[in-house]
Amino acid sequence: MQRRISLFGATGTIGDNVLDLVARHPERFSIAVLTADKNAEKLAQLAAKFQPDCVVIGSDAGCTAFKQAAPDFNGTVLVGEAGLVEAARVSVDVAVMAIVGFAGLAPSLTCAAQGGILALANKEALVAAGPLLMQTAHENKTEILPVDSEHNAIFQLLGTQSGRDLDKMVLTASGGPFRTWTSEEMAKATPAQAVAHPNWTMGAKISVDSATLMNKGLELIEAHYLFDIAPEKLDVLVHKQSIVHGLVYFKDGSVLAQKGSPDMRIPLGYCMAYPERIETGAAALDLASVGQLDFEAADRARFPCLALAEQAMRAGGAAPIVLNAANEIAVAAFLQERMAFSAIADLVADILARDGERSVDGLEAILEIDKAARLAAENFVKKGAVA
Ligand code: NAD
Ligand code: MG
Repeated sequence: MQRRISLFGATGTIGDNVLDLVARHPERFSIAVLTADKNAEKLAQLAAKFQPDCVVIGSDAGCTAFKQAAPDFNGTVLVGEAGLVEAARVSVDVAVMAIVGFAGLAPSLTCAAQGGILALANKEALVAAGPLLMQTAHENKTEILPVDSEHNAIFQLLGTQSGRDLDKMVLTASGGPFRTWTSEEMAKATPAQAVAHPNWTMGAKISVDSATLMNKGLELIEAHYLFDIAPEKLDVLVHKQSIVHGLVYFKDGSVLAQKGSPDMRIPLGYCMAYPERIETGAAALDLASVGQLDFEAADRARFPCLALAEQAMRAGGAAPIVLNAANEIAVAAFLQERMAFSAIADLVADILARDGERSVDGLEAILEIDKAARLAAENFVKKGAVA
């Protein structure tokens, strides 16, 4: 039977990969919803090709631009966050959440309340609201399937079994473009250098997060909530080839690892067709030509963002929300060349120390903590810019 798919964040890198899979398997998948923040032109092209019932665009100006670019589109056109939430209520088999950042939280929560499958790429929603999102999914029998390659690897190894009985769960990290750089070299790194990831093509925000290793820190928090596993049983291993994506250690000494070419169509295809497997177009893994798999410990002194995220994971409560909000502001400021690369960790450390200790009760509190942390982070950027 054909599966109806809604795709939130259709114009991004993950969106491209999802639509590549849909185009490869028209008998399996059709598109119900496509969303974009700003790129009305691309959304119009995608709407013409995939014929969704509904599209969502970020602003009224974007809506006008979309209608001009897609005069023949006769589905529903929705706008802004309210539009995303409305689109998340459209009945589908699989909702793919590929919006970047905290903006993905509201539609993720709505999707989690619908039943069916939520293929979650947006890690920031889990970091900021893990307990609430998991509980909402549980209460409504929604299956959250992880798109993030490391979590998808572990999901493939464990199924839906809880992580509680494991000895250890390990996420691999490529180490990013600055794996071998000194702290002094990294302090002067430019946005162009930071987004030039050695193994993956990704959006700008996650590329910078990969360069600071904050991405791996966010992923530890993501795994903590997703697999219900204690922080002390989670670890990171730097593996520059990005062939092994995740490992699980059992108490008898046995260790399972999932491998595959670094291509997001593999985890996405697994989520979209779950529990079946489909052809993804990913290059076959040729281990003889890879030749060697290297592993090294993560260097938390050179990559302080990883240690900050681990600290926030252990603290729980407001700390992951504050960490995520501060990091989003810091990364945006770095990309706009308002702040040095090394200031990302300084900013996150500063905001986390001030504001990370509150307890959290429900969505209102999450939104409030997020907003306050963003404000404090903006002030940090402004002070730095004046000095
Ligand atoms: P991207 O920047 O390429 O695309 C982001 C998408 O989100 C775009 O469609 C954009 O229009 C939309 N968007 C951005 N801001 C929005 C807002 N305020 N409101 C509504 N929509 C908005 O990012 P990406 O690389 O595709 O990553 C998407 C998510 O998936 C991120 O959370 C990232 O951490 C996660 N992820 C990505 C990869 C990857 O390989 N790219 C791997 C694992 C996880
Ligand atoms: Mg990942």
